[in-house]
Amino acid sequence: MHEVSIAQSILDIAITECRKAEYKRINSISLRIGKVSGVKVQSLLFAFDIIKIDTIAQGATLICEEVPVAGYCPQCHNNFEVASDLILACPECGGTRFKINGGRELDIVEIDVD
Ligand SMILES: [Zn+2]
Repeated sequence: MHEVSIAQSILDIAITECRKAEYKRINSISLRIGKVSGVKVQSLLFAFDIIKIDTIAQGATLICEEVPVAGYCPQCHNNFEVASDLILACPECGGTRFKINGGRELDIVEIDVD
């Protein structure tokens, strides 16, 4: 379950940022998680709730926004987004030479501190 190590690095980054700015408490951490980033949001939330105990992020909530899979098709010059996490062909022309250009990200967007 690699979500534990991901949760740990998110927590480490948040704590470091919080201390640098001399704040005492982390209220929430907002993330953008791509649908094909390989991260299971439920597992990440579960892991975070365990590792945050006895840290300055003890009361913190992890807010996860899922980013859809996006691609570009050079055949019909179409940028597209799909709801499913699997693209087999361009939804416009059915071409298979598309490039995936979104949905793999795992970014910290905002850290709310006191
Ligand atoms: Zn196409």
